[in-house]
Amino acid sequence: MRYSQTLIPTTREVPSDAEIPSHQLMIRAGLIRKIASGMYAYLPAGMKSLRKIEEIVREEMNRAGGCETLMPSVHPRELWVQTGRDEDYGDTMARFQDRHGRWNVLSPTAEEVYAYIGSNEISSYKQLPINMYQISFKFRDEFRPRFGVLRSREFLMKDGYSYHASPECLHKTYMQMYEAYKQIFERCGVPYVILEAEAGEMGGSGSHQFTVPCESGEDVIVYTEDGSYAANIEKAAIDPAEAVDEKITDAPEEVHTPNAGSIEAVCEMLGTKPEQMIKTLIHSDREGRIIIAVVRGDHELNEEKLSQLLGGEKTEMASEEQIKEFTGASVGFAGPQGLCEKAHQVFIDYSAAAMSGGAAGANKDDFHVKNIVPGRDFPLESENVQTADIRNAVEGDTHNGKKLLFRKGIEVGQVFKLGTKYSTKLECEFLDENGKRKPCLMGCYGIGLNRIMASAIETNYDESGIKWPISIAPFEAVIVPIGKKDEAEAGERLYSELKDMGVDVLLDDRNARPGVKLNDADLLGVPVRITVGRKSLAEGNVEMKLRSESENSLIKLEEAAGKTA
Ligand code: ATP
Ligand code: MG
Ligand code: MG
Ligand code: MG
Repeated sequence: MRYSQTLIPTTREVPSDAEIPSHQLMIRAGLIRKIASGMYAYLPAGMKSLRKIEEIVREEMNRAGGCETLMPSVHPRELWVQTGRDEDYGDTMARFQDRHGRWNVLSPTAEEVYAYIGSNEISSYKQLPINMYQISFKFRDEFRPRFGVLRSREFLMKDGYSYHASPECLHKTYMQMYEAYKQIFERCGVPYVILEAEAGEMGGSGSHQFTVPCESGEDVIVYTEDGSYAANIEKAAIDPAEAVDEKITDAPEEVHTPNAGSIEAVCEMLGTKPEQMIKTLIHSDREGRIIIAVVRGDHELNEEKLSQLLGGEKTEMASEEQIKEFTGASVGFAGPQGLCEKAHQVFIDYSAAAMSGGAAGANKDDFHVKNIVPGRDFPLESENVQTADIRNAVEGDTHNGKKLLFRKGIEVGQVFKLGTKYSTKLECEFLDENGKRKPCLMGCYGIGLNRIMASAIETNYDESGIKWPISIAPFEAVIVPIGKKDEAEAGERLYSELKDMGVDVLLDDRNARPGVKLNDADLLGVPVRITVGRKSLAEGNVEMKLRSESENSLIKLEEAAGKTA
């Protein structure tokens, strides 16, 4: 590709919403441009990298026995109503009516459609297993799109679905996909850890998450130093403690809750209305100290229960005066958020949140706040968060006698054993050896291509720009002729030679200052840079520099192509 004929608009300007390095660098290197909140255009260099990732994913899927398919991105809403996910997905899923008044959705994922295909095409155990995938755009109206393409509203996902007659067969394919995912991340040059995960709104019986450890991640990884335990925080929240009530009963004197923003923000995240779903008991104890309990509207937690939680101590509903004094608000109160920080004791019934829809989180009632991610929505250091799980834990606490460590990470992929959740509801069934009708066991396997790209940058950059792993770099090499005559000519020749050898090369034939070209080459992060300068060319040499190294080396012009390739 010739720089003069493409569009790689490098810039120094970083928009204020670009908070993390990968987002800033993708804009600065001219890979992407924002069209609207959470919607990005991929320009030529960005697209090349995305395509390389896509090709690696496709190759590994095919190698592991997946068959490529393509589903429409608009689905009949009816399918989603049948599985109950029309409700579960809440506002994250976009819906629209067509000209005939029929309701459709913009696919955020595709379990329903694949189960529907299975319901029509699968009849006998003899057809199973089947393993299909697609690479297509997904739309999710994320509550808070951010970090550029890491959490965007439209993104490219590889989603795979498998159908089985037995759990053993499902497990086998699940593990093949698990291994294929490892291959994909290795080949893309992205560091990753594998975590036990909760199935979220996918439902089902088992799940693993592939996560890139890095500071800008929105997920929290909980692990032990010896590696014997690693889970995402959502799973960790469920694993060790099965009894919320028990734990809450021995609440310590000082409890403290996460501050996830205003009550409106929390409700919006939960897809609820404050007056409907969240009941807040503001009580005071004998010493006039404020006790707050936040519960689901229809939950049993009442004065009696609260008193039980307090070990029999009686409380009274706080008076208007007390609330006023406590909140500093003249009218009513602003909701539990913020207040909880000041309260003497706080009880949060997380089922309030777990019951309602949302875009992330565990699928088990009473154990988890959907869509609220500790560390992202409130600081992890809030030591006194009173929940019945190891989210209470802080760095250094122990789990099964081993030290717990926390790290942030970016979820890049997730595999699920769905079981029969979708096949039962959509009648994706087969006849077994005895002629008995059974729902297929299903697995599903998702990976975010844009996220791989951003995480590759997030984990490979320096002050001059991106340092691409060569496998997914927009270009493998860039030729920078410095000078218009012989240098340009030698550059042209080298360009043809490299192209003939199959090297993906960019020729910077712009009429620009040398400094600009060299800076852009570094910013764009091309792994091999060949500079054709007057002095060295006079001696028959060019300068070769690897982006990963700081030193140049002089090589003979005739050998440059061979050495690069
Ligand atoms: P998150 O927890 O970050 O919201 P998710 O668990 O909702 O992600 P999945 O439903 O498991 O995502 O989708 C599979 C993959 O799609 C994810 O592992 C991720 O790589 C990618 N993905 C999901 N949401 C987005 C998004 N908003 N922008 C870019 N990629 C996404
Ligand atoms: Mg999500
Ligand atoms: Mg997730
Ligand atoms: Mg996920």
